[in-house]
Amino acid sequence: MHEFSITTQLVDSVLQELKKYDVKKVNEVYIEIGELTFLAHEQVKFAYEILTKDNILKDSKLVIKERKTVCKCSACGYEGSIEYENDEAHHFSFPKLCCPKCGSDVEIIKGKDCVVKNIKAVVENV
Ligand SMILES: [Zn+2]
Repeated sequence: MHEFSITTQLVDSVLQELKKYDVKKVNEVYIEIGELTFLAHEQVKFAYEILTKDNILKDSKLVIKERKTVCKCSACGYEGSIEYENDEAHHFSFPKLCCPKCGSDVEIIKGKDCVVKNIKAVVENV
């Protein structure tokens, strides 16, 4: 399961970050998932629950936000959001991976990754 391995990495990086502090309990973990990862958010939450059963993240809430795609065009210098193509038949819009300005191939600079944005935790002696 794709979601499971990604969530394992996210949980690992959160735990790594928490090692630096004297954390008593974690309340919320905020992550952003790039839309081009095509991860199912519910599956990520499910994996998160399993992966945090036996550690300090137990009972913490995972807050997922979708990270919009940002592209860069080397042909005309455009940098920004991409356009979407609507698939009426499947009620689905998918990102077009070409420059909205000139139609050249673009480089995706955001949207293919998952990042931990914020961790709300209770710290000892505060
Ligand atoms: Zn362009």
